[in-house]
Amino acid sequence: MPLSPDQRDRILAAVAAGFDDQIAFTQELVRRPSTRTREGTSQDLVFDSLRARGLEMDRWQLDPQELAAHPGAGAVEVSYEGVENVVGTYRPAAETGRSLILNGHIDVVPEGPEDQWSGSPWNAEIRGGWLYGRGAGDMKAGLAAAIFAFDAVRNAGLSPTGRIHVQSVAEEECTGNGSLAALLRGYTADAVVIPEPEEDMLVRANVGVIWFRVRVAGHPTHPREMSSGFNAIDAAYYVLTRLRELEEEWNAEKGLHRYFEDLDHPINLNVGRISGGDWGSSVPAWCELDLRIALYPGTAPDDAWRAITQLLAGIGKDESGHPILATATRTGFYAEGYVLEEGSDAEDALRESHRQVFGEELKTFTTPGYLDGRVFVQYAGIPALVYGPVSEAIHGFDERVSIESVRRITQAIALFIAEWCGVEESADVCAHSLDSKTGGELPVLLGEHPVTIEETP
Ligand code: ZN
Repeated sequence: MPLSPDQRDRILAAVAAGFDDQIAFTQELVRRPSTRTREGTSQDLVFDSLRARGLEMDRWQLDPQELAAHPGAGAVEVSYEGVENVVGTYRPAAETGRSLILNGHIDVVPEGPEDQWSGSPWNAEIRGGWLYGRGAGDMKAGLAAAIFAFDAVRNAGLSPTGRIHVQSVAEEECTGNGSLAALLRGYTADAVVIPEPEEDMLVRANVGVIWFRVRVAGHPTHPREMSSGFNAIDAAYYVLTRLRELEEEWNAEKGLHRYFEDLDHPINLNVGRISGGDWGSSVPAWCELDLRIALYPGTAPDDAWRAITQLLAGIGKDESGHPILATATRTGFYAEGYVLEEGSDAEDALRESHRQVFGEELKTFTTPGYLDGRVFVQYAGIPALVYGPVSEAIHGFDERVSIESVRRITQAIALFIAEWCGVEESADVCAHSLDSKTGGELPVLLGEHPVTIEETP
């Protein structure tokens, strides 16, 4: 049964009532740096707060061996000691509604040189309506939005009638193994919402990604007889130009890929790191490039990988006639892209929820970056709604998320939870959800913002 206008208004009011707490929780998450393999303290916070909500808790360490057997797993170059997923499960008394996964990743990318930030990446300052910090946008605000959206439904005096799993996963920024591990553990549902920073829009399609390292061999000599040596760093530049040709070849095919035709440059090859040589006065014997390349949905990682390794095997000689030995190894993502097929019930429900809050149609778009949505779509046939707030400079300096956008996204997700899972009036309304000043009657808050956020001076 669709929500009544009264139920809808109560949910929206409950989001507003919890919003100060939600932003404070988001700030606390940002203040706990969770770069790769250091997610522990952030996961502690999520675990404790989900447990305090009475959810059935699960926390486990990722198992590289179990993951390695799966074709969509990323290569692992770090120890997974202490790298854990957290899932909190809500089970209705009688499960009559549709089930839902609310998924967010807890890992953040490195902050880079801190002196390039206007403040500390870990202070979670609020300025001019934006919350700053590494992971603020990507995607601690989204993870918090999912948790507080779920709260709002219950604080509105409603009980979802479908099962809900709140997932906080690791490894989204490098392998996608966190969400994959949750799927392998048995978590499935009728739909998944992932509140990544997507500018108040829904992701229609996205690319797959492969991470790899190319090692180029040289021949070391003293620089006085440099011409008899072979400089691996110079050779690596040449290898890179050949890989750029492959990148352009793939971009030239964009017209063949639905939803990618209008993107300027959907396939990006990024050189993320370069290392090589041993010191300044020897012709370097080795050079390594850490690379990331995208692939269209429908292109199997195996096929893309074959194209890369065949190119390297056939690279032959550089422009000056030196034979080049270049080999590639996988270092992370080995992921296919996905398309969210149009017309799913889940998308329809989100469209309606979005319209209720934003007063306009939900827009969809194609993004040339990796998303964990592929785990659910590719390996479980679950429609993945990647939908979240406005952000700026994710992966850059002064990453920030729009607080007003977070508020609306939280309201839209709360309405979606209620619409999708179904609700019934609950006997035990949480007391703190009722505003005593209005004698238990909640104000209607569409378009109003009674929430005051304290700005950092
Ligand atoms: Zn993200």
